[in-house]
Amino acid sequence: MKMKAAVMCHTGQPLEILDVELAPPKAGEVLVKVEATGICHSDLNALEDETTPTPTILGHEGAGIVVEVGPNVKSVKPGDRVALSWVPYCGTCEFCVTGSVNLCESAFGPMFAGTLLDGTSRLSVEGETLYHYSILSTFAEYTVVPEMSCIKIPDIMPFAQASLIGCGVATGYGAAVRAAKVTPGSTVAVFGIGGVGVNAIQGARIAGASKIIACDVKEQNLELAKTFGATHVINVAKVAADEALKELTGGYGVHFAIDCSGNTQAAAAAWKGTRKGGTVVVVGAFNPQKELTLPAGGFHRMGKTLKGSFYGDVNPFHDFPIIAQLYLEGKFMLDELVLGKISLEEINKAFDSFHDCSCVNVGRSVITF
Ligand SMILES: [Zn+2]
Ligand SMILES: [Zn+2]
Repeated sequence: MKMKAAVMCHTGQPLEILDVELAPPKAGEVLVKVEATGICHSDLNALEDETTPTPTILGHEGAGIVVEVGPNVKSVKPGDRVALSWVPYCGTCEFCVTGSVNLCESAFGPMFAGTLLDGTSRLSVEGETLYHYSILSTFAEYTVVPEMSCIKIPDIMPFAQASLIGCGVATGYGAAVRAAKVTPGSTVAVFGIGGVGVNAIQGARIAGASKIIACDVKEQNLELAKTFGATHVINVAKVAADEALKELTGGYGVHFAIDCSGNTQAAAAAWKGTRKGGTVVVVGAFNPQKELTLPAGGFHRMGKTLKGSFYGDVNPFHDFPIIAQLYLEGKFMLDELVLGKISLEEINKAFDSFHDCSCVNVGRSVITF
């Protein structure tokens, strides 16, 4: 079938709206009419990254309606409304069978090769093959995705809000609820108040934390953190975060710290500001050239846990419906994350706004069709 899509033809260049050919779904695949797709900072990173295979269709935060299913698809049918996950899983690999579906072996190769799970593409333009991006390629009117990327959502769930669940929302919520396992009455520090951080705050709030302390270098991010549930804020550009955290917690430090900043110094401060027996979850991506340095003295006596987390340790089929339900009950803020709705043709304007430092880096422009 023919459809309109925003195509990344060259690294760093504006996307081009082209008529693209989309082949039908193969076994285990689903054709989805994209109703809404968020524009994420990761899409900008991919646009500016020379290792992204081109030409490609970016976009990895989407929601829509199932139009057609390939052979052997059992969990969805035409007409179902779905939110998309960019971490489909196989259910049979070493990591899936031990409960870590977010670490499934099957998705990573195709994700970086720019294909679907079978190593091939369904996309082409005038006979030239287009690459997929993050297995979803949602900057298009339609997309073919793995069945294991399609999570059913309630019919009353608005698509723009649903489209955001599958990326920063799930990662932040999961970092607090699944990876850190925040407990009622506990104290939580969240470092890095961006698209993941505000949702870690929301996860901590829903888990019943008594104090949620937002740590960032920007005053406007800290103000925003309060609207999502932070009870206290620390401007880490002005004061030492670990000392400030201890001051707010009777000298002990927090029970849980969640680092969403991608900054190794912030992670070290999170470690120092966490109490004995506490847990630090690092969900932000560090620069691989850097090393994380932690104080060695008394390490064994502290009994702390340092844990990395990919995709917030979520299982999309379990956690997306929970987040949707929490939203519908008024307990999880998604409306505030939809900064504006735009058309596919306006996509380059949204990318440009990422370069404007005055723009708040929480929330999304969402393309609706
Ligand atoms: Zn994203
Ligand atoms: Zn697997």
